Amino acid sequence: MALIVQKYGGTSVGSIEKIKNVAKKVIATKNQGNQLVVVVSAMGNTTDDLIALKNQIAEEVSPREYDTLISTGENISAALLAIAIQDQKENSISLTGWQAGVLTEDIHMKCKILDVDSSRIKAELAQGKIVVITGFQGINSKGDITTIGRGGSDTSAVVIAAALNADVCEIYTDVDGIYTTDPRKLPHAKKLETISHEEMLEMASLGAGVMHPRAVETAKVNKMNLHVKHSHKEGTGTQIIMSGEKTQVVSGIATDDNIAKIGVMHVPDIPGVAAKLFGSLAAEKINVDVIVQSIHEIKKLNDISFTVSKDDYKKSLKITKAITSDWKETQIVGDTKVAKISIVGIGMISAPGVAAKMFHALGKEKINIQMISTSEIKVSCIIAEDHLVKAIRAIHDEFELHK
Ligand code: ASP
Ligand code: MG
Repeated sequence: MALIVQKYGGTSVGSIEKIKNVAKKVIATKNQGNQLVVVVSAMGNTTDDLIALKNQIAEEVSPREYDTLISTGENISAALLAIAIQDQKENSISLTGWQAGVLTEDIHMKCKILDVDSSRIKAELAQGKIVVITGFQGINSKGDITTIGRGGSDTSAVVIAAALNADVCEIYTDVDGIYTTDPRKLPHAKKLETISHEEMLEMASLGAGVMHPRAVETAKVNKMNLHVKHSHKEGTGTQIIMSGEKTQVVSGIATDDNIAKIGVMHVPDIPGVAAKLFGSLAAEKINVDVIVQSIHEIKKLNDISFTVSKDDYKKSLKITKAITSDWKETQIVGDTKVAKISIVGIGMISAPGVAAKMFHALGKEKINIQMISTSEIKVSCIIAEDHLVKAIRAIHDEFELHK
C-alpha cells in the first residue's frame, strides 16, 4: 500500500463538475489499494475575487485579517471535494491548515511552514478516509490563520508529503507536463518524461509557470520526487526526480518577457557605487535580475546595466535617476521592449561550448544579444522582445530538443 499525496490546482477544481471529476479520480486511486491525501487550491479565481472584495473597503488592511480572508477560498474547495467524495459513497474528511497541524511562522501573507504535526492526518488515514487538506494556509504560534504566499498550495502539498514520508507527491494541473519550452510559443515543443529538481527549479524561477519555485525547492531539500500531470486528461505527465544519472546537456528553454532593462552609463569607477545603486533598489524591495558592468579603461568610468520586472520599471528608473543625480557625466537609458531567454540543463556542467552554441543560434538569426548571465546549469540572454519567438525556435532547433 502506497501513501500518495495529490495536489489539485485552482483550475482543476474550478467548477462543481470538475470537483466531481476529481472525486472520481481520487476514489479510483484509493481503490487501487493506496492511502490518499489530497491538497487543494481555491476554486478558479476565488483568491483574486476575495482580494477584490477587500479592496472595496481598503487597499491596505491588517495582515491578520487579510490572511483570515484570503485563506477561505481553500476551505470552500476542500469541503466541496470531501462532500463530492462522500456523495460517491467513499469515506472522506476535509481538514483546514490548522486541523491538519500545519504550523507556520508568525508573520502573515508570505510565511514559511515550520512544521507539520501529522498525527491527525495519520489518524484519519488509519480509519480509511481520503483526507482532503486546504493548501496555502496554516496556523502560527498565536493560533492565528496564516497564508504562505500566492500560488502556495504546491508548497503545502510538498511539505505535507514530506512530513508524511509519502511515496509520491502528484501535482495535478491544467497542462499535461513540463515541456522543453512553452508550447504556446513553439507548437513542436516536446513534453519531458523526466526533469531534475535543479533544472525544474531554474525553469520555474525563469518563468515556466507550471510549478511554484518554492515547492520545487522544498521537494529538492526533502528529496521528494514529484509527478506533474493533467488533472482531467490521461497521460504520463513529467516526473521531477533527483538529478543522479541525468546527462541531457540542455533540457529546456525558459523565457520571460515581463522584464525591462535600465542602463546607467558613465558612472564613476570608484568603490561603493554598485552597493549604493543596488542597495537603494533593494531597500524598495525591487528584485534586480541580470547585472552587467563594463569598464572604459581610459576615462575611469563604468557602464552598469540591469534588468527588473516590468512592474518595477518606473520605480527603478526614478530611484536610479535620484541616486545618480550628482554624477555629472552619468546618463540613464531604459528599455521595456526586452525579453530574457534561457537554456537550462544539468549536463552543461561537464559539456564545454554550450553557451557558444546558444550564441551561434542567435547570431545565425541576426538576433543581437544585449546582456548575458550564466550559472552552472543555465545561460540567459537578454534580447529584443520582438525576436523572442524566433529565438526560441532557433535555439530549440540548434539543441535538437524536439528529438
Ligand atoms: N489560492 C492561492 C492563490 O491563488 C494559492 C494557490 O492557488 O496555490 O494564490
Ligand atoms: Mg492558484
